[in-house]
Amino acid sequence: MNRLYHESEDWVEQGACRQYDPELFFPVSTTGPGRADAELAKAVCRTCRVRQECLNWALRAGEPHGVWGGTTPEDRRYLRRDLLPAAS
Ligand code: SF4
Repeated sequence: MNRLYHESEDWVEQGACRQYDPELFFPVSTTGPGRADAELAKAVCRTCRVRQECLNWALRAGEPHGVWGGTTPEDRRYLRRDLLPAAS
C-alpha cells in the first residue's frame, strides 16, 4: 500500500470500489476505448460514501493515474489548477 495513505487509512476500507476489479479504476486511457471503463469507474465513485476523502487524498498526493474520488487524472489536473492561487 502506498505510504501516503498513512494519515487516514480508514476511508480506503470503506470504498465502494472494493467490490470491483481494481483494473476498472486504472483504465489504459480515459479517451477512446478506455473511456467506457473510466465512466463506469466514475459511476461507482458517485455511489461511494468516502468519495470526498478519496478525492482529497488524490489531490494532495498528486496521484497521476487512475480514477479516484470520481475524477480522472485530467479532471484532477483541472481541479488543482482551479484550486491553486493565481500566480501574481
Ligand atoms: S471514491 Fe471511487 S476510487 Fe475512491 S474509494 Fe470511493 S469508489 Fe473507490
